[in-house]
Amino acid sequence: MSFLDKIKPSVRALETYAVKGKAPQPGLIKLNQNENPFDVPDEIKRELTAEFLKQPWNRYPGVFPDELLDALSAFVRHPAAGIIAGNGSNELMYTVLMAVVSKGTKVLIPSPSFFLYEKAVKVFDGEVLPVMMNPDLSFATEKILETARRQKPALIVLVSPNSPTGQSIPAADVERILNETESLVLVDEAYIEFSEKKSVEDLLPRYDRLIVLRTFSKAFSMAGLRVGYLLAAPSLCAELLKPKIPFTVNSFSAAVSMKLMARKEVVDERIAFIKNQKNFLLKSLQAMSGVDAYPSDTNFLIFRTPHAARRLFDGLLERNVLVRDVSSYPMLERTLRVNAGTENENKMFLQALHEIL
Ligand code: PMP
Repeated sequence: MSFLDKIKPSVRALETYAVKGKAPQPGLIKLNQNENPFDVPDEIKRELTAEFLKQPWNRYPGVFPDELLDALSAFVRHPAAGIIAGNGSNELMYTVLMAVVSKGTKVLIPSPSFFLYEKAVKVFDGEVLPVMMNPDLSFATEKILETARRQKPALIVLVSPNSPTGQSIPAADVERILNETESLVLVDEAYIEFSEKKSVEDLLPRYDRLIVLRTFSKAFSMAGLRVGYLLAAPSLCAELLKPKIPFTVNSFSAAVSMKLMARKEVVDERIAFIKNQKNFLLKSLQAMSGVDAYPSDTNFLIFRTPHAARRLFDGLLERNVLVRDVSSYPMLERTLRVNAGTENENKMFLQALHEIL
């Protein structure tokens, strides 16, 4: 008898989250996790660590971080009772699924999209209803509606702008999905700060089935500190809070996110820079013969070449450039994903790619 028969079959069938490549080290051009290439400014780091040294570390933070929720409420203009903060938006995704998914619960997820949703639905023994994107990788709204009407999923997950494709579903289409289905609709806006398209937040006051997920990991340079938040109707948040793990936002990370909201001009400057660099990458890749690069509403983009993705990935890594091989996703054969780094990093990436192609 092995302990393995005590583990849920749905869990045994999963794979552990892993990121392929090298551990971060000096000189590595790391463009594989859609991070912000710029760290939190030194002066802010010093200010916060000095303040934090004065605080008692032996005390629990709030069960749910009230001060942060109030700051977020003023920042996004949404009632604090309709906001949940978590240890990164990944934690909040699990919170939503804990509240919604049990054996056989249907969850509609366009494909290809952020793989963690599918994986987490399986942890809770739910059933994923994949709906393929259009051939140009835009969202297939009619197919989503048709599937939702027929299958009546409890939840529809829309990552918009989407990873790994970079495209968004128009807010008007999200509203149609809300109007023409009875499902809960979760819109993951992890990359919204880099997008020219509108957030769906304006729909929140009118739809108590809408959940918007955001993160401080990307535009706010805080991937290492783990803060994400969720916006929804207060009545829905009251239910989502019930399964939530308490105390997951530590006092330090809460303080850093509050400071960065107060210093939004620093964040905005970086967003503008990153958007420019993403556009530079897009133009440069589109100008390379044999390369098909897709426009993106995020800080990253995908591109396809005639070569096997693995070969390009390895060739780039030999030149110390780490990107993401997304070729195992549906519809993304021979495709790699790269995020905008600093000006120099982007040039080095293009140079390395040029050498290989
Ligand atoms: N949603 C999407 C679509 C993402 O790509 C990511 C980052 N990999 C996340 C959420 C996770 O964000 P966090 O760091 O807030 O857990």
